Amino acid sequence: VRIEGLAARLAAIVGPAHVLEDPDVRAGYELDWTRRWRGTALLVVRPASTAQVAATLDACAAAGVTVVAQGGNTGLVGGSVPRGDAPAVVLSLGRLVQLGPVDTTAAQVAAGAGVTLAALQAHVEGSGLRFAVDLSARQSATVGGMAATNAGGIHVMRHGSMRSQVVGLEAVLASGETVSRMTGLVKDNTGYDVCGLLCGSEGTLGVITALCLRLIPERAFRLAVMVGLPGTSAALDVLAHARRLESLEAAEIMFAEGIALVGEMTGVRPPFAAGYGCVLLLEFAADEDVTDAVAAVLEHAGCPDDRLAVARAPAERARLWELRERLTEVVNVVGVPHKLDVTLPLRAIPAFADGVAELVRSVAPDARAYVWGHIGDGNLHVNVIGPDPDDDRVDAAVLQDVSARGGSISAEHGIGVAKARWLGLTRSAADIAAMYAVKRALDPSGMLNPGVLFAGGAP
Ligand SMILES: Cc1cc2nc3c(=O)[nH]c(=O)nc-3n(C[C@H](O)[C@H](O)[C@H](O)COP(=O)(O)OP(=O)(O)OC[C@H]3O[C@@H](n4cnc5c(N)ncnc54)[C@H](O)[C@@H]3O)c2cc1C
Repeated sequence: VRIEGLAARLAAIVGPAHVLEDPDVRAGYELDWTRRWRGTALLVVRPASTAQVAATLDACAAAGVTVVAQGGNTGLVGGSVPRGDAPAVVLSLGRLVQLGPVDTTAAQVAAGAGVTLAALQAHVEGSGLRFAVDLSARQSATVGGMAATNAGGIHVMRHGSMRSQVVGLEAVLASGETVSRMTGLVKDNTGYDVCGLLCGSEGTLGVITALCLRLIPERAFRLAVMVGLPGTSAALDVLAHARRLESLEAAEIMFAEGIALVGEMTGVRPPFAAGYGCVLLLEFAADEDVTDAVAAVLEHAGCPDDRLAVARAPAERARLWELRERLTEVVNVVGVPHKLDVTLPLRAIPAFADGVAELVRSVAPDARAYVWGHIGDGNLHVNVIGPDPDDDRVDAAVLQDVSARGGSISAEHGIGVAKARWLGLTRSAADIAAMYAVKRALDPSGMLNPGVLFAGGAP
């Protein structure tokens, strides 16, 4: 490791103002959103172009330091902050914020990796098109970070996750070479799908610097429905009916404990009396008014009239969504959460959801579990408050249970460092070996995000 002079070399590339060495200034880049994961960076570097990212990676390789790419630092599996003993540079993509014109003919837009989801949404608004992925970290999450984690969010059931929106991308590899597929070609069968490979690579294969993103038509009509139900099986029944409507684009579930916590801490409550085991939030989007069709489906599904709310106007819909969106935030306030984002076959959801709190208490008697998620995708977020950040017995118990029920240990947040130990619960030895062969080929010295995905290096 030849660290001496690294700051000066990087300052020559990005300008001295964008090499951050002061511990107070670095601090925000060294601690993750949950506060469970932290480390110390040698320095933070903030390049403003792909060429500067390439030169930065060259300088870091020459110095023998590792590099942690960071977008909005909203990732929930510890992959965006330094860790361990190896000297690390945090490479912040926050200055890569260029946006191309909205191409309404191709329904695409080019965006720098550091563009936040909210900035992208604002840029596209009014064009008749919209970006398909949405999530509540939109003010800070960047499109580069979302692609790197293959983020999901609330509309996956209709439009797919981030990978499905990426038409092209540009990335700098550990070698310092740039791969660019930004021409926006929807059909281009010329070898390996490098864009697909980098989506979900969590900063371990290359640094994404720009993306060409697919846009979808903005629908004229939106309807949100909130319904209180006895439990998960009833929610799945309603979902089965609602799925018959092509306009269904979100199906979220929340449980009584989490809803009560949001109520206590923010005053936001469902617009009907308590007495439900869970609350289902559905959203429909179409070119025409689908109220009657939705009402018919809900009636057919036996939804209780006295625990049902329907919202059409944007402000009314936002009020229903607020309950769902504030869950993440309030749980983060009551403690440092162990965030277990899992996916299960829908038929396995009721038994898992009914038993998970008890499973958690059997390992950590004083722990509290708050569960919610994107039920349309079989995706539940189990949030455990209580155990120390580095006590991962609860994590092990829940992830093993998910695996035994045929689920995956990560639905949409990724593996990061938080779940690297348990990758084998979801992926076979052959699968992990194939992934590691790709890692070794593209990053032979292990410079990019060590500890992420593969615990302790080679499997
Ligand atoms: C309130 C809240 C709600 C959320 N809701 C959802 C949700 O509904 N669905 C969902 O899927 N996720 C959700 N997330 C987590 C989600 O992973 C992030 O919000 C988002 O995808 C990460 O973007 P980011 O720019 O913050 O990335 P970061 O946190 O900065 O980084 C995440 C990972 O990507 C890597 N990375 C970042 N940028 C790049 C780049 N340019 N090139 C290569 N690697 C890079 C990092 O090294 C790290 O491993 C939520 C998070 C919060 C805080």
